[in-house]
Amino acid sequence: EAVVYWMRMEDLRITDNRALALASKHAQQDGVPLLTLFVLSPQDYVAHDRSARRIDFTLRNLQSIRSSLADKHIPLYTTSHTPRTTLPDYVLSLLKQWKATTLFANIEYEVDELRRDIKLCELAKKDGGIACTFVHDRCIIPPGQVLTKDERGYTVYSPFLRSWIPHLTPKGKDSPIACAPDPASNTPSVRDHPVYGPLFDNTVPDEVEGFTMDDAEERERIRMCWPAGEEAARLMLDRFLHTMSRSSQLGAVDPLSEGAKVPTKNPNKDSRVGKYKDERDRLDADTTSRLSPYLAAGIISARTCVRATTELSANKKIDVSRDTGIGRWNQEIAWRDFYNHVLALFPRVSMGRPFQEKMANVKWESETRDGHLQAWKDGRTGVPIVDAGMLQAKTMGWMHNRVRMIAAMYLTKDLMIDWRLGEKYFMEILIDGDLASNNGGWQWSASTGVDPAPYFRIFNPYTQSHKVDPTGEYIRTFVPELAKLRGEELHKPPPGLADKLGYPRPLVDHDEARKRAIRRYKNPGEE
Ligand code: FAD
Repeated sequence: EAVVYWMRMEDLRITDNRALALASKHAQQDGVPLLTLFVLSPQDYVAHDRSARRIDFTLRNLQSIRSSLADKHIPLYTTSHTPRTTLPDYVLSLLKQWKATTLFANIEYEVDELRRDIKLCELAKKDGGIACTFVHDRCIIPPGQVLTKDERGYTVYSPFLRSWIPHLTPKGKDSPIACAPDPASNTPSVRDHPVYGPLFDNTVPDEVEGFTMDDAEERERIRMCWPAGEEAARLMLDRFLHTMSRSSQLGAVDPLSEGAKVPTKNPNKDSRVGKYKDERDRLDADTTSRLSPYLAAGIISARTCVRATTELSANKKIDVSRDTGIGRWNQEIAWRDFYNHVLALFPRVSMGRPFQEKMANVKWESETRDGHLQAWKDGRTGVPIVDAGMLQAKTMGWMHNRVRMIAAMYLTKDLMIDWRLGEKYFMEILIDGDLASNNGGWQWSASTGVDPAPYFRIFNPYTQSHKVDPTGEYIRTFVPELAKLRGEELHKPPPGLADKLGYPRPLVDHDEARKRAIRRYKNPGEE
């Protein structure tokens, strides 16, 4: 007999993992071995527009987890299965083969995944009682707990935050940021077991067909920008909390190299987190944590991040104030909770529907018209700040939040292209692609979502550019044609100069485009 922990794409860690901790506890109580399972599901990756970068990151992390678990004599069995419709049957067949009594997993809030897990529970029950336990782990406060007076989910962030904060007060083991215990080791004799012993020979594949990064140079670059493993995630957190930013680190560089980590004597003032309140929107400053790939894949838990900030705050409490860097950062972690709650409580957002149904009829331009969508993807719109963002995504598989907003608003309002095409492209190119946050961000920018940007408040990309990249260092880093320009010429190159440098002229006139967008949003369905 055995207890099984089923690891999924969003909980790629051993430390502070609730389902894994529970599985271990049960295995210890019953005196049976703990086994762990990961099922690669290529059809799900297609359905969710997963990027090859994210799949490669997943495999690299699994390799690291496999080796750490093996040190505890716990096997990680990585396998692949299609079609995705029979995944529950397949998992059940493995459980039976392993004579498992209980299965533990962390809940995934996406609709397809919830349906899959419900089906597995039903099958397991019918089949003679393998108990399946799914637990909340992804958010600081689980969906369903932060509700309005009439017990509904919040659809506006600020009241959500006000209601979220009181849930943080419990202390000790009841604290929402309490760390789940590490799993205990199996006895070494499990390696001699006729069924469980051979599981240790299983290895993590180097690639998943259909999701390979064929360009070796790209693969190396992405791997350098995003080192795998829990230790790397912890070092990224340390980098954010304890070291200073350097604008020379904006490009594709190893984030953990010594140059990227200038120690600071006064973390609350000079460190990245110290400057976060005032500088987090600066594209030319590298003051954000760059933890999103690690949080999206669960390589570090949101609890661990918030816990680490309490060590820095004066009273050792969770700081969520607007007035400090730490407080503002924890408020961003609350945005992550917010979008996950929206996903869990309003599943239609993940089904390609706008949250604001009245916006379903907004008239979009054809995606192929004048090659605008492709030009946006290629970073060739002729608007430097948009192009720099899109080229950052191509180069690093990641973008700063502010430039995601600028690029998304430009696609939906200036080019008037359907937000779902942008949402899909971000999933395909980013290493931190996450349904809840990506959908939330896109529907915010397209003014179709929960708590959206009002449709008439359209970013002027040139004004934004001056504001968020005042030194121009960001544009110069990512748009090589403009590397020698400064000031206004850099933010909005005059046509003659652009032609000379081989840089495109703007695809549309912003003022004209803005009028078109307001007209179409005001009267959905009309031209
Ligand atoms: P920090 O500023 O250091 O913030 C810390 C953490 O808080 C982030 O890692 C993230 O987990 C969370 N967070 C911060 N801002 C947000 C936010 N607005 N919404 C939700 N969570 C947030 N984030 C993703 O993780 N995956 C996505 O696929 C994604 N797509 C986006 C698409 C659009 C159009 C927009 C506007 C935003 C998107 N975001 C997404 C949110 C945000 O841009 C990134 O989380 C952030 O840029 C990551 O950088 P960081 O880790 O340095 O963030």
